[in-house]
Amino acid sequence: MTVVVLLGAPGAGKGTQADLLADRMGIPHVATGDLFRAAVRDGSPMGIEARRYMERGQLVPDDITIRMLLDRLAQRDAAGGVILDGFPRNRAQAEALDAALAERGATVDHAVSIEVPSDALVERLSGRWVCREAGHPYHETAHPPRVPGRCDLDGSALIQRDDDKAETIRARLAIQLGSLRDVVNYYRATGILRQVDGLASIDDVAEAIDAALADDAVGAV
Ligand code: AMP
Repeated sequence: MTVVVLLGAPGAGKGTQADLLADRMGIPHVATGDLFRAAVRDGSPMGIEARRYMERGQLVPDDITIRMLLDRLAQRDAAGGVILDGFPRNRAQAEALDAALAERGATVDHAVSIEVPSDALVERLSGRWVCREAGHPYHETAHPPRVPGRCDLDGSALIQRDDDKAETIRARLAIQLGSLRDVVNYYRATGILRQVDGLASIDDVAEAIDAALADDAVGAV
């Protein structure tokens, strides 16, 4: 099984790149944010609990998050590996992931950090729209849909996530950048971290990610 962790601040382009990479590698894109949003839509007890944190731009507690992610990894389509997007978000989650993978003789194979300066993140997040059906991401100026208000991939309506509204964005960034730094440092210490420039075009970032995955011996940072 091949496990790739994509790291980056909210708005760095993780979701877009994880979708593209999942297609190229033929393994699922697993985004804990999407799993939580699905649970909120379903109105499950976990969704109701998670929603209290998501609305405030805070992280959902680790016990809930880790359990949900491990359940997802146990599903059959994840047997060949996964692209993780939005997990791990702190050191405890990174350690729980390592322990769960070790039980199956697996490990995190690659951690790729998509680097974008914070002023560019605010501008990107406030123009972001996602489709109602599957969360496919678009941007008003950088990546508009072919038909305004409709997803190119599944035709569903585009909506703005509650936590992409301006007042929540700065809170999310302030809270999340610190723990992201811890996770980046965690993978830097294990020697598997690669960094790519997230300000480049979508195609160029995808190419840089492929190069980072191919390049295990050199380029560690
Ligand atoms: P995202 O779509 O990755 O920006 O996630 C949206 C929200 O879901 C976050 O602001 C958190 O409230 C929650 N969330 C997603 N992933 C995690 C995680 N790994 N740990 C804790 N909370 C998470």
